[in-house]
Amino acid sequence: MVKFQFDPTKCILPYDAKELRPTKCLKCLEVCPGSLLMFRPLKEKDENGAPKFFEIHMLFKAYSKKYCPDCFKCVEICPEQAIKIII
Ligand code: SF4
Ligand code: SF4
Repeated sequence: MVKFQFDPTKCILPYDAKELRPTKCLKCLEVCPGSLLMFRPLKEKDENGAPKFFEIHMLFKAYSKKYCPDCFKCVEICPEQAIKIII
């Protein structure tokens, strides 16, 4: 069983307040060979009503080692050490 840990306060995902979505980085999503990572906004909003933080999370099936072979590419590419994979 693979455990994915993510710290939204470290993640530098900036967002476009109009688009309400992250517009930069997402390196962890790009590098994952199984396309197992996704992002979603967290509830906390800024003064413009845009999400303050985004969360990177794993697709449910990715918790199986069959899908996530713990290659650590997402951990290694993150410039802010926001991701941990615990096996
Ligand atoms: S450890 Fe590798 S396979 Fe697993 S989520 Fe990260 S990049 Fe994807
Ligand atoms: S690579 Fe790191 S900083 Fe960039 S989106 Fe992923 S978790 Fe956030």
